[in-house]
Amino acid sequence: MGSILGFLAEPWFQECRLQRPVTAALLEAISTKMAAFIELGNSDTYTLEKLNSDLGCLASEIAELSPWIVGVKPLTNEKQVRERVASWVEFARDLGLPGGQIAEISKSADRTSRTRPRGRPPDRRRLAVKAYEMKAANHKLTWEAVTEALCDCRKSQHDEYCKESLRQVVMTLQKTLRKHGIVVPPLG
Ligand SMILES: [Zn+2]
Repeated sequence: MGSILGFLAEPWFQECRLQRPVTAALLEAISTKMAAFIELGNSDTYTLEKLNSDLGCLASEIAELSPWIVGVKPLTNEKQVRERVASWVEFARDLGLPGGQIAEISKSADRTSRTRPRGRPPDRRRLAVKAYEMKAANHKLTWEAVTEALCDCRKSQHDEYCKESLRQVVMTLQKTLRKHGIVVPPLG
C-alpha cells in the first residue's frame, strides 16, 4: 500500500498523534480503509460479487468515520447533488471498475446526497472529538469544564443540557471507535 499512507511517517502526523490522539487514530483508520478500497478496485483476482460487497463495506465504514473529523454539510441543490455523483462516478471509472459497479456507486451516491437531515441539531461530532481529547489528556477535568471550554451554543451561560448533550456525543464517539477497533487513550 503506497503513497496514500505515506503521511503516517511524517513529523506533522507524529505531532498530531501526541496532541490530538483521537483525530490521528481516526485519520489513520480512514486512510487505511481508503488504501484498501483502492487496492480492491485494482484487483483482478476478485469475483464481481465479492468485489461489490467488499467495496460496499469499505465505503460505508469510510462514510461512518469521516464526519468525526471533517464537517459534513447536507447538499442543498440539484447542481451540488449532480456534481457529487459525477465525482464518485469519475473516481470509480479511474479505478477501472466495470460498468455495473459504476452504476451501483452512482445510485448510492445519489441516494446519500439527497437524504437531508432536516431539523436535526447541528453536527457536534468534531466538537466531541476535541472534548474526548481534552478529557483523555487530563482525567481530572470535569464535564462542566470541558463544556465551558468547547460548547458552541449561543446561550449566555452553558447549562446542564449543554453538558449532557456534549457527553452523549462523546459516548457515541467512544462506541464508534470500539466498533471499528480503533485504539485511543482512555477517556478517564
Ligand atoms: Zn452551551
